[in-house]
Amino acid sequence: MSELAYPYEAPASQALFDRAAAVTPGGVNSPVRAFRAVGGTPRFMVSGTGPYLTDADGREYVDLVCSWGPMILGHAHPEVVAAVQEAVARGTSFGTPAEGEVALAEAMVERVAPLEEVRLVSSGTEATMSAIRLARGFTQRTKVIKFAGCYHGHVDSLLAAAGSGVATFALPDTPGVTGAQASDTIVLPYNDLEAVHAAFAAHPGEIACVITEASPGNMGVVPPLPGFNQGLKDACAANGALFVSDEVMTGFRTSRAGWYGVEGVVPDLMTFGKVMGGGFPAAAFGGRADVMAHLAPAGPVYQAGTLSGNPVATAAGLAQLRLLDDAAYEKVDAVSAQIQGLVTEALAKESVAHRVQTASNMFSVFFTDRPVVNYEDAKAQESFRFTAFFHSLLSSGVYLPPSSFESWFVSTAHDERAVQRIADALPAAARAAAEATA
Ligand SMILES: *Cc1c(COP(=O)(O)O)cnc(C)c1O
Repeated sequence: MSELAYPYEAPASQALFDRAAAVTPGGVNSPVRAFRAVGGTPRFMVSGTGPYLTDADGREYVDLVCSWGPMILGHAHPEVVAAVQEAVARGTSFGTPAEGEVALAEAMVERVAPLEEVRLVSSGTEATMSAIRLARGFTQRTKVIKFAGCYHGHVDSLLAAAGSGVATFALPDTPGVTGAQASDTIVLPYNDLEAVHAAFAAHPGEIACVITEASPGNMGVVPPLPGFNQGLKDACAANGALFVSDEVMTGFRTSRAGWYGVEGVVPDLMTFGKVMGGGFPAAAFGGRADVMAHLAPAGPVYQAGTLSGNPVATAAGLAQLRLLDDAAYEKVDAVSAQIQGLVTEALAKESVAHRVQTASNMFSVFFTDRPVVNYEDAKAQESFRFTAFFHSLLSSGVYLPPSSFESWFVSTAHDERAVQRIADALPAAARAAAEATA
């Protein structure tokens, strides 16, 4: 492993980053990848295998990002790779229906009881955008309730008080989203049912849907308080609105049936992405058959996609879902709990105020001693400690999400050797967090 102390050089990554910056805004194709929240050179990865990533400078890292969730079996799982190779050899896109997309939809419907019908798309953003359009078309209403700190992709109307990269950069809003688009969005504090009831009372007959992350992971991990999701569902039902549960991150990760499988609250519509694509661009939205019947060509609400249900992406997703049996989730949950324990132990030893918050096998560390139940709480943490913690771990070969507002992710491939490397790296990282100053 690297003997270099933080901050250390990554010359090959830096050269690639310089090249990238000449042809791509900020040198990246998705903002959080640029390391702006933590500083330093973003690592350009050249390969991944199991729980490890290797960067352009030849350094190996234990990966605790897993492509932001999708790689739940680790990188380059042989059976997923074989399914992809077999699919690629048969042709990469037909622009016609094909059996793979039916099989993937069937596998999803079989796992998630409230999912009666599903439409495949290519990104989580498309999934939430389409679900919102469908909810508006179905209810013939305009307004949408979302929660501060919840991220639903870069859908114009949902880029108000969003988490993830938007949280990292503390953008209150983004130029390019019009007042009209934002004005139909009502942003409320997460975990606050009183605020939801007040919003329904203030806008009778106007609210098409409430959209929420099933269990938020884009402001760090902030699970719903007991009864919150059921309360949302009940408020929607009482007011003729649809309850849209965004499971792009939690779907097929937090259990075989996602967060629905953990809590059992039945949404009207759900959105998926990440794990269901097996590392390829595949996502979906679906739910109640009577609502989905309003979607073109069955109904009047338009929605389409040239590469929707792509045969290579559906082959990867299906191969991954088939491997995700109960034993796989037990393994992911166990290794997640083990790493959480190690992090707590190391930080406690250095008397660093922190909270490890969990949602099944998703977890993140907040540098605060107070419980984090909403976005305001999340923003109140001492993020400067995370920066020191992050760079110490990076220099020891452990790759964390480069922001304190993101979930950490593990896979079935995270074995004893990978966990040992994390355990070895944590004491110095905890010390760095303890010594950090704002
Ligand atoms: C990642 C994510 C999205 C957006 O998905 P993309 O594929 O990046 O467009 C939407 N909702 C949630 C909850 C997510 O975590």
